[in-house]
Amino acid sequence: MKAKKTKSRPGYWLQDRPVSKLSVYDESMPEAPYRRPIMQFLLTFTAVFGVLFAVLNYRQADYGLMAIEIVMSVFALGLLPIVSRTQRLQLWIVVFLLAFFAVMMYALTTAKVVPTVFAWVLLIPILSYLLLGRWLGAWFAGVFLSASGVIFFSQYGFEQGYTELRSVANVVLVSICIFGFSHVYEASREHAESRLRMMALTDPLTGLPNRARLREVFEAGLSRYERHSTPMALLMLDLDHFKDVNDRYGHDAGDAVLRFVAQVMRARLRPSDMACRIGGEEFCVVLVDTDRAQAIKAAEDLCRQVRMQRCVHRGHEISLSTSIGIAEIGVDGIDLDRLLRVADTRLYEAKTRGRDCVVA
Ligand code: GH3
Ligand code: MG
Ligand code: MG
Repeated sequence: MKAKKTKSRPGYWLQDRPVSKLSVYDESMPEAPYRRPIMQFLLTFTAVFGVLFAVLNYRQADYGLMAIEIVMSVFALGLLPIVSRTQRLQLWIVVFLLAFFAVMMYALTTAKVVPTVFAWVLLIPILSYLLLGRWLGAWFAGVFLSASGVIFFSQYGFEQGYTELRSVANVVLVSICIFGFSHVYEASREHAESRLRMMALTDPLTGLPNRARLREVFEAGLSRYERHSTPMALLMLDLDHFKDVNDRYGHDAGDAVLRFVAQVMRARLRPSDMACRIGGEEFCVVLVDTDRAQAIKAAEDLCRQVRMQRCVHRGHEISLSTSIGIAEIGVDGIDLDRLLRVADTRLYEAKTRGRDCVVA
């Protein structure tokens, strides 16, 4: 009777545990570093000019606006030390911009007295995109520009003839232009930033994440371990007799082998796991939601795959094998350097045991 063929799929050795929904690739980009100084500048600006405008409005006997400007000035001053330190910068930016734009809308309703107050509207898209990024910035800019448009038309309307129509067109078109330019600029800036980040975190030869990315992913796994005791294992892989491959087939064959092994690992791991290249022919695999027993199965499977998959380069079939050392978070330590040292010691032991094996 024919043996039933089981369909292999990435990570099948962990079938008894669900694949973590929190993929290690899912973390959002870190916050743009320039937002904090821009916010500090905006708060200082608001604190200083809030007082200045309050004095001007006092002299014009516009006590309503004067009171609001004093409140904004004090609010900005109070927020300054918070914004310099807070971990929740985005939240404070949203709170402040809501207040800042709301005061701006109120000031626009006094535009009959000072029509140039509409010049402030041009700040809306610039501040929104700079401080909130492409999508939230677009929402803020869209909502507050529309609101200022409504206020503008409710103040002037069209009834005053074509001269006013041209003035209206100027304000509306310049606002739309700045909105558009800010959006396009922010979109290309975010794209360029994520490309640079990708390049900084990727090994160019294999396309795998590098040591820097390993550190980030490990930190995310460590915080899951600390909060929910979610296990995590690290595998340290080193190809056996790799120098012989270079010596025998040439350096480009060695490079092809590294790409091949990277591909084998990509194909076998779950989306929530991560293989990275940390040195010449050394790789590290982060297995999330995985304890030592499961990590051993995963490592043995990787060993088998590297040994059994055919690696052919320029007509030569290159036979390969790998040795693996395993460390588990919590059991062997909780900081990355320590876990890497433990995994490395076990990898060395695997080499001395004759290679092509796993030590946990
Ligand atoms: P062992 O089984 O003990 O691990 O022996 P090994 O030959 O694999 O290890 P060894 O440390 O002696 O040699 C590693 C070799 O890997 C030496 C180096 O030239 C080669 N190497 C490192 N980085 C690259 C690379 O990017 N491309 C290629 N082709 N070779 C590399
Ligand atoms: Mg090595
Ligand atoms: Mg080696």
